[in-house]
Amino acid sequence: MLKYFRESFGLVRARDVLSNPDNFRQFDAVSDYPAGAREMLLCGRKKDETRGWELLPGYSRVNAVMGYQLQEKHLAMVAQMPGLQRLGLLNPKVDDFSALAAAKKLEAVFIEDATNLSTLSSFAQFRSLRALGILDAKRLNDLSGLESIPQLEELALQCGIWNALKVQTLQPLAGLKKLKILYLHAEVADNSFEPLRHLSSLQELSLNLQCPYSEMAKLAAFLPEKTCPYFAEPYSTANTCRKAATHTVIVPAKGWSKFCKDCHPAKLDEYLAEFARIREDSRRRKAW
Ligand SMILES: [Zn+2]
Repeated sequence: MLKYFRESFGLVRARDVLSNPDNFRQFDAVSDYPAGAREMLLCGRKKDETRGWELLPGYSRVNAVMGYQLQEKHLAMVAQMPGLQRLGLLNPKVDDFSALAAAKKLEAVFIEDATNLSTLSSFAQFRSLRALGILDAKRLNDLSGLESIPQLEELALQCGIWNALKVQTLQPLAGLKKLKILYLHAEVADNSFEPLRHLSSLQELSLNLQCPYSEMAKLAAFLPEKTCPYFAEPYSTANTCRKAATHTVIVPAKGWSKFCKDCHPAKLDEYLAEFARIREDSRRRKAW
């Protein structure tokens, strides 16, 4: 099974996209890389821009590229690399990524700190894409385009803790029948997680607490319990209760206020019973 994204400290980082980040060495010029190089680190930043981009197509063994502050003209040249499978982009100076569609073997794209990115429509032509990760794209609010990459197996959409990703709807995800891993840390304006019920291949779902509680319960009716840890129990954290540092504080999904399990043990039962009631109701009716 493909596993492009690994989680560290709760966030997927661009460097984790690439199998062995230690192998990435930065040279001043493309021609400094050995002929058999498998990975490249390229810089588009003016003051230390990598030289010799026109030589990239000659590096046929390179399968992974990490790019820093690349512009559209750089993407067009990276896309000419015949063996390119994985691409990590840190702070790209681009909104339109369609130039990458020319990379016919490109399987995984991870974009971090994409301040210009507002739509995913330019990914619609990526026929070979299996994994897409976007971290910290505060202007992104429209997920349209995802419906055109039904072969996607891994998807990570995350913003930082203090600047939540806000999207209008999850509808574009409904047709991703091959999706196995989904990291969705976003606020959803229409408050509906119904599109996710159709993700029949999903094995791993990471949701943050922006997910409305009743939506999570309904989702639990359609996806296997092991898909998401919150289907079995709410998120708990230690030592924020004023009474004692050892107390377990439960932070339920949106719609339930947090409570201390040790000070209010009945609250947890109440939470779980209500969760089960909503889940069973959806299950019985086979409807959202
Ligand atoms: Zn307590």
